[in-house]
Amino acid sequence: MKRQYKVVILGGGTGGIASANRLLKKDKSLKNDILIIERESHHYFQPKWPLVGSGEMELKETWKAMEDVIPKGMDWIQENVEQVDPIKREVGTDERTVQYDFLIIALGLELDYNAIKGAPESLGKNGVCTNYLYDYVEYTFECLQKVEEGKIVISKPVSEIKGGVSAENSLFTMNDYIRRRNRNVELVFRSGRKELFPVAKYNDNLIGQFNEKNIDYKLNSELISVDGEGKQAIFRDRLTGEHHEVPFEMLIITPPMHGPSILQDTELLNPEGWVDVDPYTLMHNKYTTVFSLGDASSLPTVKMGAAVKEQVPILVDNLLQRMQDEAPSHYYDGKTACPIATGYGELIMAEFGYDLLPKETTFLDQSVDFIMNLATFDTKNVM
Ligand SMILES: Cc1cc2nc3c(=O)[nH]c(=O)nc-3n(C[C@H](O)[C@H](O)[C@H](O)COP(=O)(O)OP(=O)(O)OC[C@H]3O[C@@H](n4cnc5c(N)ncnc54)[C@H](O)[C@@H]3O)c2cc1C
Repeated sequence: MKRQYKVVILGGGTGGIASANRLLKKDKSLKNDILIIERESHHYFQPKWPLVGSGEMELKETWKAMEDVIPKGMDWIQENVEQVDPIKREVGTDERTVQYDFLIIALGLELDYNAIKGAPESLGKNGVCTNYLYDYVEYTFECLQKVEEGKIVISKPVSEIKGGVSAENSLFTMNDYIRRRNRNVELVFRSGRKELFPVAKYNDNLIGQFNEKNIDYKLNSELISVDGEGKQAIFRDRLTGEHHEVPFEMLIITPPMHGPSILQDTELLNPEGWVDVDPYTLMHNKYTTVFSLGDASSLPTVKMGAAVKEQVPILVDNLLQRMQDEAPSHYYDGKTACPIATGYGELIMAEFGYDLLPKETTFLDQSVDFIMNLATFDTKNVM
């Protein structure tokens, strides 16, 4: 293995692998000159985890061995990135130091279950679930199958999250599951955020969905504590400061999230803790040899794999220009897509950009439910 690479990519998730793939396709001279540093032995298709939680997919369909997704013609080391020095252009792992000419930071974000009192020790028992950890998603469906009465409470934090509307997706599909079985179970949604959705058109439709399905929902309501054995979740009203106890049979936690803590003491992060890149070119605002995309980046759009797909070609073209000492001239408009499942097989397909105006790709009105005939929404396992 070399000590110096033209391009080093931190993270072999959606953004890291897709950027590596495209970079090598566009510039064959980069063969054997790209290094991916990824600590996991598996590549996870995280958007599929909520589908496991609602019984639409098997857990084994949500991952591949890392060596099967790393493009041929580049190196991968399975190590933990511990530090980055953007002035010396060095990355330190638990095993070695590597030098780069150009760096792509695709480290994703970090989950903070510790921010909720009692959450880490409660997960995986007494009906306390999460769809954000591989090891726990099967437990979600196990609980859903058993719950016959009481409340299924679904929480969403104040912070930015990956998979923007995954809590709502679980809520609506589970509601569908319960209604089809005529169980005496109430669905409850609590979000720490001040609105349901940032785009007016889809927000209005979502409010309609909650009302039509008679689901109890509340905004500005942040999960602060969990008592698993007592089956109580405590929420703080962010407007009044009051605490409310909500009893549950099942609680599905979406935890608070933040940017990569290993970069905390560098000038690579903005004050909010995200990798500080230009929203249009994806080049770092201070270090012009550094680019970032996806969940770790400061790009002001909803953090989705669908957004990463739009960002990759822009990042790669701009990086190749920088390698030729040219200024980046390709611009990302913030395009992202959030599929909001409103039941098994039905969804709102929200697509929009930085201007928060819809950018829909079909001739249909995508804010109105339509049946998506996609394998991922196959209902055969649950009906
Ligand atoms: C439950 C859930 C539901 C979702 N639903 C959807 C959806 O419906 N549609 C959609 O488009 N998107 C969805 N997403 C979001 C989507 O998965 C992410 O936006 C996307 O994966 C972001 O790609 P990324 O490369 O930025 O981060 P990731 O894909 O998370 O990759 C980051 C990689 O960096 C590695 N890493 C982190 N720190 C280190 C370190 N110190 N050293 C070495 N390696 C490190 C990690 O192991 C990981 O492999 C969902 C996500 C979740 C969890």
